[in-house]
Amino acid sequence: LHWERQIGSSATPRRNSGLSVLVTGAAGFVGSHCSLALHKRGDGVVGLDNFNPYYDPSLKKARSALLSSHSIFVIDGDINDANLLSKLFDLVPFSHVLHLAAQAGVRYAIENPSSYVHSNIAGLVSLLEAVKSADPQPAVVWASSSSVYGLNDKVPFSESDQTDSPASLYAATKKAGEEITHTYNHIYGLSITGLRFFTVYGPWGRPDMAYFSFTKAILAGKPITIYHGRDRVDLARDFTYIDDIVRGCLASLDTAGKSTGSGGKKRGPAPYRIFNLGNTSPVTVPTLVSILERYLKAKAKKNVVEMPGNGDVPFTHANITLAMEELGYKPTTNLETGLKKFVKWYLAYYRNPPRQIKTHFG
Ligand code: NAD
Repeated sequence: LHWERQIGSSATPRRNSGLSVLVTGAAGFVGSHCSLALHKRGDGVVGLDNFNPYYDPSLKKARSALLSSHSIFVIDGDINDANLLSKLFDLVPFSHVLHLAAQAGVRYAIENPSSYVHSNIAGLVSLLEAVKSADPQPAVVWASSSSVYGLNDKVPFSESDQTDSPASLYAATKKAGEEITHTYNHIYGLSITGLRFFTVYGPWGRPDMAYFSFTKAILAGKPITIYHGRDRVDLARDFTYIDDIVRGCLASLDTAGKSTGSGGKKRGPAPYRIFNLGNTSPVTVPTLVSILERYLKAKAKKNVVEMPGNGDVPFTHANITLAMEELGYKPTTNLETGLKKFVKWYLAYYRNPPRQIKTHFG
């Protein structure tokens, strides 16, 4: 395998008792930010990503190039490749896996249901099998989603609330992922932390998400579609800035403990944890658009229609008490400030492509 000789220095921590982390989905939005943050504080990082074309692969390549410029190695491979994973865990004694690779987005599932099964179910099981066999056995921190709360109308959402009404196949696969990881925890003793992210946004974000596609359309003078709920109630999201999510991920890794021993020989029950990582202040989609209009100095052409009943939920709102208590998590960036940073990045990246790789990250 071409990467075998290249990953050693990338995986080795540069500080005492630093972590050695495999980041799946490292060329993705959250994965690239987390990889860089881990590397910057002296942890060893190896990335894995299949660079799939769900959205513009050149953006994934650009993020990955930025990671390379910091000597973070990103393997081009799939989490379903058991052979690759077993070689990788044989080569590197990872202390942790930050599992962020997934098929994201709710609408894509209508045309491409199998890609959710491939990455979010089969891929997750493949990864957990590799972790189970690894020696030492790394602690797993992985991305679930606020979408597991589905059509639950009790807000704010707490970790102990019902998650029995997923509104999309994406949500269903994240809910299934929670059951699957829980099973690997209590049967095989894997240390598991599931993070329910709430609508993450920021520089180097995902082009399929509303704040990003609205920015593109507003600048091009094209119409945007804004959904409203029943009785014309505005949709609202607990938009959470990427740097806050990164801090939550790193705190989860730091508190996840290290290996519980190899081959299921555990020293007591391994932890199974679930945390909301949100911002606790939902903002409506029309307000999001008006903030963007201000920063972009352009008016949006709005096409307001009723939300189709196959994917979106009317609102999300995180209760983050548990993450505050156990992780010291505290979001610090409001939507105004975060969108300002996003727009600054967007204009630099798309108006000035030659300098894009050096653009400020996060
Ligand atoms: P992203 O699409 O930018 O990143 C995911 C990365 O995983 C992509 O680069 C993709 O190429 C890679 N990938 C997908 N399937 C793979 C496979 N089978 N093998 C290897 N690589 C694969 O998405 P993101 O926004 O960075 O999300 C990261 C995680 O957080 C995902 O699990 C997502 O479901 C979850 N999440 C994100 C949000 C959000 O608002 N961004 C909200 C809730 C949950």
